[in-house]
Amino acid sequence: MRSIVAAGRTDVGQVREGNEDALLIRDGLFAVADGMGGHVAGEVASATALEQVEGLDGRVFQDADAAIGALRTAVVEANRTVSQLAEEHPEYRGMGTTLTAAMVEGRRLHVAHVGDSRAYLLRDGQLRQLTDDHTLVQHLVDEGQITASEADTHPQRSIITRAIGIGTEVEVDTITVDLRAGDQLLLCSDGLTGVVEDDRIGELLRSDDPPQVIVDQLVQEANDGGGPDNITVVLLRYEDPDAAQDAPTSTAPITISSRTDATDGDWAAGVSKYGALTRGGPTQPGEPDDERRSVGAIFGRATAIVLALALLAGLVYGGGQFLLSREYFVATDGDEVVIYQGVDAQLGPLELSRVVERSELELDDVQEWYRPTLEAGRPAADLADARRIIRGIPVRDAADDPDDADDGIGDDDADVADDEVEDAAAGSGPVG
Ligand code: MN
Repeated sequence: MRSIVAAGRTDVGQVREGNEDALLIRDGLFAVADGMGGHVAGEVASATALEQVEGLDGRVFQDADAAIGALRTAVVEANRTVSQLAEEHPEYRGMGTTLTAAMVEGRRLHVAHVGDSRAYLLRDGQLRQLTDDHTLVQHLVDEGQITASEADTHPQRSIITRAIGIGTEVEVDTITVDLRAGDQLLLCSDGLTGVVEDDRIGELLRSDDPPQVIVDQLVQEANDGGGPDNITVVLLRYEDPDAAQDAPTSTAPITISSRTDATDGDWAAGVSKYGALTRGGPTQPGEPDDERRSVGAIFGRATAIVLALALLAGLVYGGGQFLLSREYFVATDGDEVVIYQGVDAQLGPLELSRVVERSELELDDVQEWYRPTLEAGRPAADLADARRIIRGIPVRDAADDPDDADDGIGDDDADVADDEVEDAAAGSGPVG
């Protein structure tokens, strides 16, 4: 009789307006999803994905293959459902989510994974990252272009190369672990790992505190570190089945941060297509081992760049898949003021952003001194923030409520200042 103690928590963090993360804890079934798309869309994406995983609750499998197959099917179904919703509802366009799900089958644990929400295993005091991040920077690390520590602070680290809901097909990684007494599995969104170092995570997991205490501490430390993103943590501990007669079989609090109405479950048939087990590059969790890679990089740097571009081009154009980012900025598309999702940069021939929302506003309507700010692109914390920025753009011809441009917060004296500013700043406008 297995004995698993689990705990989880999701937290909005210090900066974001809403929580687009979601988590699932059931008996032997655990998942984390990090939704993107802003406002309601990200929440819909993550909750919808988890609903598909939840469908596995209570199912019993004959063997590991059956369990892995069912887990993959759930992820594929999550992708189908989320992308269909995005297609049918304009307000959900561009939404997507990561999905990292773990299922216990006998004494094995199966993990299915898309995106950059991670699974870690703590065994014998050692923390090991089980999942490879499906991110642009991880790809660049694998290619030897940048080091693992450079990746941590890379300006494009938010770009993910795989996600649920952004294409008709999705490639799913699976990992199987033979559980041992004392094993701990951590599932978490990048709101934790972007802030709290692996060493510190390992340190906390090694303590004897109950999982809920450790989970709360992890969330606390991510918030103390600035909490730039939503933070979600699920921790489960596999107790010694023989020694733990007194231990509860499961003390899982049932928590999903947001839910949507279930959509019709036309259970996907396409499992066989994803039958091959795929894992990405040779990530070595724990200490960065960049010496080895940098040797190859001396010779291979130019080649690596070409390969990276080819792979990305394949992803973007060939695979019908977009790079997905959880960052937003306001800029222009031709004469129009629009909201971009992604990073305001190019990698070779590839744009790392795409228009997710257009506005009524044309560049001609914007006060001249503010145009350079838009042409340069103005970063936003999230989609809601981007909309707020657009509402605050100073327009010509004394519109009813030309908000202050710098903080997006209503500022009534802007009306008075309009003409002076226009005259005084013409030709040398401040650049954001
Ligand atoms: Mn996140």
